Amino acid sequence: MPTQAMPVTPAPAGPASGPRASRRAGAKSGHTAGGGGRRRTPAKRSALLTVAVPSACVVGVAGVAAASVGGLTGSEKPAEDTTTMAAPDPASVKPVAANSKLDTQLEALSADAGDFADRASRTQERIDLRQRQDEERKRKAEEEAAKEAARPKFAIPVAQRGLSASFGQAGGMWMSVHTGIDFPVGYGTPVMAATDGTVRTQWNSAYGNMAIVTAPDGTETWYCHLSSTKIRSGKVKAGDVIAYSGNSGNSTGPHLHFEVRPGGGAAVDPLAWLRGKGLNPS
Ligand SMILES: [Zn+2]
Repeated sequence: MPTQAMPVTPAPAGPASGPRASRRAGAKSGHTAGGGGRRRTPAKRSALLTVAVPSACVVGVAGVAAASVGGLTGSEKPAEDTTTMAAPDPASVKPVAANSKLDTQLEALSADAGDFADRASRTQERIDLRQRQDEERKRKAEEEAAKEAARPKFAIPVAQRGLSASFGQAGGMWMSVHTGIDFPVGYGTPVMAATDGTVRTQWNSAYGNMAIVTAPDGTETWYCHLSSTKIRSGKVKAGDVIAYSGNSGNSTGPHLHFEVRPGGGAAVDPLAWLRGKGLNPS
């Protein structure tokens, strides 16, 4: 075999006979020595380019250009996956590399476009959701406004109808005249705010436990002789249960004493005031 490679090796006059002579001299080393001598030769073939490339690429890019030098084919080891070929024309390689780069860019652009479409879709969904939420909020606000408009702004302080004492009534129980009206309700009966407003509670020796609701127009309503209070301070609405009736203070038995004082001043007849609001407790 080594001797078959010899024809492709340029044969310099003097040294060429050297390897042949040494191989003959050391015949027992045989192939090994011959390979060593052969491997020096490719460096001299400057016109040839030995490159390791995927075979598909070789066929696609420069298959035609892949030319084996006849004498070498037999001696080259195919297992090295090495192809000896003429240097490919740079012009024929660059477009492929450029195309590959373009393909990559196009794929990236396509992926970007997909992402953009997804984002746009999600953005639209968010806008739709926000619009639905806005509409729902608006609808609820309108419902609340309608409910608020329809809500009674005044209430009779107890559910039971009928009075046990009227305003201005004179008698031994009062220092002068009766400054409110009495509802003959049992101990612990729920007492409701007669108006919207702010409630406060206090103790008075005559009125006992009392709650006072101040309406937005300054009118005070007093709830007296209570057994306990439910709401001791803060905003209340007409009809809210604020306390429970009792017998505290100067009282001869469980009932609710109710007063109305416009602007926090002198007491007026609660019955007339309630009737003026369209309510009839008697
Ligand atoms: Zn009274």
